[in-house]
Amino acid sequence: MAEKSVFEKILAKDIPSKIIYETERVFAIEDINPVAPVHILIIPKKKIPTMNDLVDEDSPLISEIVFAAKRLAVDYKINESGYRLIWNTNGHAQQTVYHIHLHLIGGKQLSWNF
Ligand code: 5GP
Repeated sequence: MAEKSVFEKILAKDIPSKIIYETERVFAIEDINPVAPVHILIIPKKKIPTMNDLVDEDSPLISEIVFAAKRLAVDYKINESGYRLIWNTNGHAQQTVYHIHLHLIGGKQLSWNF
């Protein structure tokens, strides 16, 4: 069986992490190394290594993740001030965990430097 991703280990409670949001198919945690006051990861329970691996059947799952981000932005009171949603994919984007996850980042003025 393939090696578990860090997010599968968190879900299995092999690694401690507070789950701040959970449904049948999706969960969210605060990032261990936040780049802003609010930095949340919204993650499908199903392991999909990269966005390149999405198939048509994943469409409702991706929708659920985006709507979870919208809701969490309200819960963390950054919906009005603003936030960024990011799916890092492969090397140029510096993806480090090969189990897709949506970053919800906000709570301060963000820059746009590459
Ligand atoms: P990526 O670089 O793949 O887009 O994002 C992976 C994110 O997962 C990083 O921001 C990293 O800080 C976070 N991360 C990695 N390991 C853990 C962990 O054990 N717990 C939590 N809460 N976040 C983690």
